[in-house]
Amino acid sequence: MKSERLSRSGRVVAFHWQSWEPVEIAWNDGVIASIASAPQNARPETWIAPALFDLQINGYGGVDFQKEDLTTEELRRAARALRRDGCARFFLTLVTSEWNGLLARLRHAKARRDADPELRAAIAGWHIEGPFISGVKGFVGAHPPEHVSDPDPGKICALREATGSDPVLLTLAPERAGAMDAIAHAVSLGMTVFGGHSDASGAQLDAAVARGLTGFTHLGNGCPQALDRHDNILWRVLERPEILASMIPDTIHVAPAPFRVLHAARGGRNLIYTTDAMAAGGAPPGRYSFGKTMLEVGADQIVRLPGASNFAGSALTPAQGVFRSAAMLRRPWQECWMRFSTAAAEAVGCRAGLRVGEPADFCLIRPSGGPSPAALETWFRGELYETAD
Ligand SMILES: [Zn+2]
Repeated sequence: MKSERLSRSGRVVAFHWQSWEPVEIAWNDGVIASIASAPQNARPETWIAPALFDLQINGYGGVDFQKEDLTTEELRRAARALRRDGCARFFLTLVTSEWNGLLARLRHAKARRDADPELRAAIAGWHIEGPFISGVKGFVGAHPPEHVSDPDPGKICALREATGSDPVLLTLAPERAGAMDAIAHAVSLGMTVFGGHSDASGAQLDAAVARGLTGFTHLGNGCPQALDRHDNILWRVLERPEILASMIPDTIHVAPAPFRVLHAARGGRNLIYTTDAMAAGGAPPGRYSFGKTMLEVGADQIVRLPGASNFAGSALTPAQGVFRSAAMLRRPWQECWMRFSTAAAEAVGCRAGLRVGEPADFCLIRPSGGPSPAALETWFRGELYETAD
């Protein structure tokens, strides 16, 4: 791929992911300086699109974010592996565990991140998934049921205090006692609140939306394999287009037919993608820790409790997610890219996009026509850190 590799400054000619026109984009000191039509004779080989944004990363590249005493080096290793796979920024995700331990890990990760410029730019915020989720078998998923609990105002305040003014996404079950007050409280403190691992009734979803709930985490997962065909959480969320739904587009967490139906029902809108990756993301099959639990990842990139059939996260890479989604929907990958970049960032109050004055975080993509790109480069603050060809 042709681009000038001067430190934090450069220019590239590529097809624009939205206009499909050749553009020349220049950046200076890590910031996009200009976007203009390319010269008439330009024949770019690559496409340019904003770097992907994943709001649910539990670990990556062999690094488990649930473990105690994460080091700066481990966090950098995970962030760099994510960049290699198309994602420049993400929400570091902590799941249900014993409350004081969860808070301690959050404070620890926040301190590591605040002290390091590279991590400050890469970790855009925090996703706290649980412990205020359903404890019912199936809905609790792979979270430890003994640690799920009702939310209370003190715990919501503690999350805000631990994260300072950073963006926070809180996933909870609206049917839990105290959840309605918790949603309003969290929103008043500037957090984004999604439902998830929940069997909320339609009335409970409506009440939650009235208090500020805006989305639903990994729709199609965090629920039992068998559901009442007439009335279940998928229908209830789907029929409320005001609730943005995230999905794991790996062809397995949501099978291709329901994936297409979900998109058709929403007209392709109010849907975003996440990998929900754990340590095995961007790493080979094997056994990986997820907090105190050991999980197994097969060649299908599905994460399971050893011997169990239910899913416990994915080892999907963000770029693979876009291309698999395009294959399932039989639509151009450029159309799907938005749900894993600009729309995902906006869902949690962040910005992403190719705009003058914004950080030069972008991907150069050479498509293959297959389920993954022939070549992918992720540029971060105007620099190329890693390449995966
Ligand atoms: Zn989950």
